Amino acid sequence: MGSFRGRATTWLLAVATALGLALTGVGVAAPAQAAAKVAAPLPDRTYVLSSYYGPRCMPIAGSSTYHQGQDFGASKGTAVRAIAPGTVSRAGSVRGFGEWVVIDHSTGGERFSSLYAHLVDGTKHVKKGQKVKRGQRIGDVGSTGTSTSPHLHLEIWQGGYPGGSTVDPLSFMKSRGVDLRSLSTRNYARTTPSSCKYFTTAKVNMRSGPGESYQVLRTPQPNVVIKGKPGAGSGDWRQVTRNGRSGWIHKNYLSPGYTSQGTRYTLSSLNLRAKASTSSKVKRTIPADAQVTMLRGLKGSWQRVRYGGQNGWVSAQHISDTRDGAQVVRNTSGNTYSWVRPSTLQLREGPSTSTAKVVTLKRDQRVRHLATMKNGWLKVKHGGKTGYVATRYLTSNRP
Ligand SMILES: [Zn+2]
Repeated sequence: MGSFRGRATTWLLAVATALGLALTGVGVAAPAQAAAKVAAPLPDRTYVLSSYYGPRCMPIAGSSTYHQGQDFGASKGTAVRAIAPGTVSRAGSVRGFGEWVVIDHSTGGERFSSLYAHLVDGTKHVKKGQKVKRGQRIGDVGSTGTSTSPHLHLEIWQGGYPGGSTVDPLSFMKSRGVDLRSLSTRNYARTTPSSCKYFTTAKVNMRSGPGESYQVLRTPQPNVVIKGKPGAGSGDWRQVTRNGRSGWIHKNYLSPGYTSQGTRYTLSSLNLRAKASTSSKVKRTIPADAQVTMLRGLKGSWQRVRYGGQNGWVSAQHISDTRDGAQVVRNTSGNTYSWVRPSTLQLREGPSTSTAKVVTLKRDQRVRHLATMKNGWLKVKHGGKTGYVATRYLTSNRP
């Protein structure tokens, strides 16, 4: 990014100058300009404007869909300064914001608060109750709380925090003489997408309203695609759609990315391979009904998993979401087969040894998976007959 810095700065100054002239030219007044003198929260040219105030898609699992502040991407340790004189009302750490400082201001007849989040240490430079000057260092840029990289999240609360309401920090500061856009090294595009794409992070209830007391409409599996609109939600709940039907899901179960962690169960014994191919080395054989951990990676019909401390690839058609109860075998686009391991195996009418025998299967005979499994029993078809076999007697490896 260093090589672009000079050019971007020159361009931004030109734009800022043009805007300034245009505003003066049409005689737009800035009534609050004299009301409060403010200082930039970060030194000039140390930050980029990354995420703006307003509706947005959740940038990280469990985050807000309405951005109440302005994000400044900056190096860890960059000095964070009080934007106006005031009294520290909070200094320490809190869930979500991480290490934070809040300052109450009463300047030029105006009451407002400034909130600085994701700091390295909220109590390193100031204490609760302490009076600070405009421009005084009150923290260091960090990445604590719900954050993916070092940045300052700044909120302005008109009327004070938490009783007042947030305003756009960029326009608040600009109307008081500090144009943060012209003091940055780069400004990311300010766009709001029409729709957000999320994935469920776990098997989760989608409800008819924003709370646990509302009716459960459906229960999507992990890593199912959910759509939402920027800003659509209430408190900790997000208003979303799944296959065109709308409902509400708690924010903690929605993520902008695929969740690699999760447990699956093997439908038969199967090989853990070094690569996504039947010709690659077998690292080990995983027994039927074993728990495997999902890892990021799906190639054709191969899923990357972890088992017994080893990472590798297995046939995605032979792992399942749950151990018990009705479930859908994954990748139902094609038929899934397993082979009989013992010399003889009874195909039974139901998922229990107490049910009647349908037919006796022999070693290496092939059975086709049907859609359901119960308590380690899989419904299969062989030679036109349908019945149940215990999955531990099946293997996914063709003899
Ligand atoms: Zn932010």
